[in-house]
Amino acid sequence: MKTLRQQFLEHVGQTSPEPLLLEVGRAEGVYFFTPEGKRYYDLVSGVSVNNVGHANPEVIKAVQQQAADYMHIMVYGEMVEKPQVQYARRIAELLPAPLESVYFVNSGSEAVEGALKLAKRYTGRHKMMSMHCAYHGSNHGSLSMMASPEGDTWKAPFQPLLPNVEYLWFNNFEDIGRIDEETACVLVEPVQGEGGVRLPADGYLQALRKRCDETGAMLIFDEIQTGMGRTGKLFAMQKYEVTPDIVCLAKAFGGGMPLGAFVASKTVMDSLQSNPALGHITTFGGHPVCCAAGLSALNYITENHLVDSVEKKGKRYEETLRNSPNVIEIRRSGLLMAVELGTSEKLFKIMALFKERGIMSDWFLFCDTAFRISPPLTISNDEIDDSCRIILECLEIL
Ligand code: PMP
Repeated sequence: MKTLRQQFLEHVGQTSPEPLLLEVGRAEGVYFFTPEGKRYYDLVSGVSVNNVGHANPEVIKAVQQQAADYMHIMVYGEMVEKPQVQYARRIAELLPAPLESVYFVNSGSEAVEGALKLAKRYTGRHKMMSMHCAYHGSNHGSLSMMASPEGDTWKAPFQPLLPNVEYLWFNNFEDIGRIDEETACVLVEPVQGEGGVRLPADGYLQALRKRCDETGAMLIFDEIQTGMGRTGKLFAMQKYEVTPDIVCLAKAFGGGMPLGAFVASKTVMDSLQSNPALGHITTFGGHPVCCAAGLSALNYITENHLVDSVEKKGKRYEETLRNSPNVIEIRRSGLLMAVELGTSEKLFKIMALFKERGIMSDWFLFCDTAFRISPPLTISNDEIDDSCRIILECLEIL
C-alpha cells in the first residue's frame, strides 16, 4: 500500500513543484498537529483565513447546526436563506456607507471577477486598472489584473487574457493621473499582501479616491487578505480612512469555509439586474453553511473585541524579532507581517529550519526574501513569545 504522501503526489493535482508535504492530523487554536502529534505554530493562518483560530467552538457549532438544518437548496439569489440574510445585514452594518449590498460568491478570485463585471456594467466603460505587484486571484479575470514584478511570466502561457487592462505603480502619486474618463475601475489592495506586505504611503489611497471621484472611475478595494480584523481594524479601509465604491472580501470572511463577496451600494449592485438580467450568477455562492460559519466567526471577532489587540500583538512580534541581526526590515500592518531577510537563500534556509522546529510560515508570491507572520488573531502573548523564541533560534543559526 502506498503511503498517503505518495498517493497525494500521484492523485491530488499539483502546481507546486515542491509542496511542503506536512500531513495534518488536527488543528486547534494557533496550532496544527501531524498525525504523529508534532505541533506547529500556524503563522500563516491558511493565508489569512483562520482569524478566529482553528476549531473555534462557535464556528463548529454554527456549521453543525446549519448542516443539519439545510445545505444547498437552489441557485443563488432565488430563496430567502437566513444565514445569508443575517450575514449580509451584519456586514452592511459594519462597513461604512454606502457599502450595503452584498453579493456572495465562493472565493477571492470570484469576488474580484464579480467586482470587475459590476464596475463595467455600472459605468458602461471598458478600461480597467490595477497595480504592479498585486495579486487578485488565478482565474482569467483576476489573473488579468495581476502584474508581477517578473514581467509576464505568470501570464504569458495563458494569453489572451482580458484586454484594456493597465497597471499603475502602487504608491506612485504621478501615475494616478493616468486614471481617466474611460476608466471603469481601479482595483487595489489597501495593503499589498503577496507583494510582501507593502503599506500605502500617507495620502495615497485618498489621492486614488479623489482621482476616481473626478473621473467617475470606480474604486475597488481588494480586502480579501486585509479584511476581518487582520490589519487592526475590522477592514483596512477603516484604518486608512478611505471608502471604496466596491469591496472584495474572502479568506477569513468565511470563518474557515469557502466564501467570498463583493459589496457595493444598492444602486450600483442593482445594475446587474438588467441588460442583461442575471448579470452575475452562481450555484453555490453564499452557501448557507459557509455563511453560518462566516457570521459566527465575525460575531466571535466583535464579541471578544479581537480587533482591539491586533496592533499590540503585531508590535510584540516586531519588537522582539527586529533584534536579530539577520532581520533587515519588518513591514507590518496589524498582524500581517513580512520579516525581510534580504536574500532568498536565507529565506529558504530558514523555511527548512521552521519546518523542523514547529513553525509554519511561508514567503509571498512576489517576494521570496521575506517570511510571513499572520497568525490567528486569537494568539496569546505567551504564544507570541514562545513562537518568537523558536524563530529567533532559527535566525541565529542562519
Ligand atoms: N486577492 C488577494 C489580495 C489575495 O491574497 C488572494 C489569495 N491569496 C486572492 C485575491 C485570491 O483569493 P482565492 O485564492 O480565494 O481565489
